[in-house]
Amino acid sequence: MRPIGYRYTTPDGAWLNLCRMCTLLAIRADFAAVLPPVDPEAATLTVEHLLEWLETTAPEADDRFGEIYPHTANHGEDQALICARCPTAIWSPPINVALLSNIANLIRTRPDLHDNQFWAARVKTGTASYTTYCVGGWAIVLSGGRFDWRRARCAVSHARRWHALTSSVVRPETLPDSERISLAAQRLLRVNTATARRLFNPAASSTDVLSIIEDILAAPAGAAGAP
Ligand SMILES: [Zn+2]
Repeated sequence: MRPIGYRYTTPDGAWLNLCRMCTLLAIRADFAAVLPPVDPEAATLTVEHLLEWLETTAPEADDRFGEIYPHTANHGEDQALICARCPTAIWSPPINVALLSNIANLIRTRPDLHDNQFWAARVKTGTASYTTYCVGGWAIVLSGGRFDWRRARCAVSHARRWHALTSSVVRPETLPDSERISLAAQRLLRVNTATARRLFNPAASSTDVLSIIEDILAAPAGAAGAP
């Protein structure tokens, strides 16, 4: 299996998932006593080289300084694996293409039920009443989450002869870990924060949102993914 990072078991028993760069720094700092003087610019200064070198010249270093080995699996299903010492994502889950495509189809066929201005809004206009959702709201609803209308607020547009109850509260029993709706929606879609901001932008029209989704789905795998 292809390594996705390195696991460092320190002498005091902690184990850390580290990115390539932090592994390199960890080896150079923590194994300094057994390493030869290294030229930081050398092309051969890679984790693989250093591990090989330690293995052959200082096999006992493991016991004294800890152990570093390639980490090949990610155990958190939908969660990104973040380096323990820097913000680098060692591994990112793929975007939830199915959910994002379902939302795009919904907005395409029922643009009247999409409004990025509110997470969820129960609209009354004349005799019609319907519920709209923003992209994040749709992500919640299509994943089984329900909004809490007991804690809704009023929004009125006299010019459009329109009034609505808006909610940004998800009933927690319908969707665990939904305290913050933006984070819950981001987690469900498995997109990074920058992508979530684009998708949930309250000023984005249905047309804007559809082209943003097309952009995301066309991007190379992982480019818009978590974190
Ligand atoms: Zn790192």
